[in-house]
Amino acid sequence: MCPTLSKNAAGRNQRGQTMIKINKNNSSNSQLEICDLHVEVEGTEIIKGVSLTFHSGKVHALMGPNGSGKSTLANALMGHPKYKITQGKIVLDGKDITKEKADVRAKAGLFLSFQYPAEVQGVTISNFLRTAVNNFKPKEDQLSVIDFHKLLQEKMASLKMDSSFSRRYLNAGFSGGEKKRAEILQMLLLEPKYALLDESDSGLDVDAIKTVAEGINVARESTQAGIIVITHYHKFLQFLKPDEVSILYKGKIIAQGGYELAQRIEKEGFEVMINDQ
Ligand code: ADP
Ligand code: MG
Repeated sequence: MCPTLSKNAAGRNQRGQTMIKINKNNSSNSQLEICDLHVEVEGTEIIKGVSLTFHSGKVHALMGPNGSGKSTLANALMGHPKYKITQGKIVLDGKDITKEKADVRAKAGLFLSFQYPAEVQGVTISNFLRTAVNNFKPKEDQLSVIDFHKLLQEKMASLKMDSSFSRRYLNAGFSGGEKKRAEILQMLLLEPKYALLDESDSGLDVDAIKTVAEGINVARESTQAGIIVITHYHKFLQFLKPDEVSILYKGKIIAQGGYELAQRIEKEGFEVMINDQ
């Protein structure tokens, strides 16, 4: 389905012609749409015509074997300069952001948690996050050090993170699990409209997976964020209960469904679907 164009619920009119409805009001525009997206990395086309719609307040799981292009798609959505969109559109709540830079996309409400977050020596989590949060707020709403500290402690507690964590340098020497929690903490503070979570569960033990998933669920319920989760782990999806599941393979969507599709993959693997191609 393409941006700003959606098929009528009935699909066809009485004469059997396909009905196309143009969304004009904003309420029907609370979705992130990608239409026929093609993405190149260093001269090679990795994403080969993907169309997907992500809805506010819903969890959409993007799955697929390694090397399918999941991270490439996430980076292209976020506007990473290395990932070149050669064709197609990205529309966020009715606004075409295909050509916008990453900071404009972030301010418009997009968030990407990295599969491999960078380590930044000399910058504490607390300072980094306060700068990030205030950067998104008008001057009169900016948080003081004390107010931010309170908010940070509250969000950290919800992710069962030790309060001393906020004084550590960003991702420096963090375990895999700590990096992932720091990414989710950032999401809870920034309150994005759409969050792309790239393997936010990898490196986490089962208890941490539950805590992180609960944090994501709370954010989704309280801010109506649309959550796009890239994962291989069924355990994570059991806690998140995705509303929609899409399977990416060799840069194309090969299957779509509800949570039952993820359950089928857990049982049968991707192989059956790939063999159908
Ligand atoms: P996934 O996240 O589904 O495992 P990726 O998006 O990481 O898949 O990778 C898809 C394909 O794109 C792979 O063949 C990978 O080698 C290639 N690719 C991804 N990023 C780069 C890059 N920065 N430079 C060159 N090739 C890349
Ligand atoms: Mg990846």
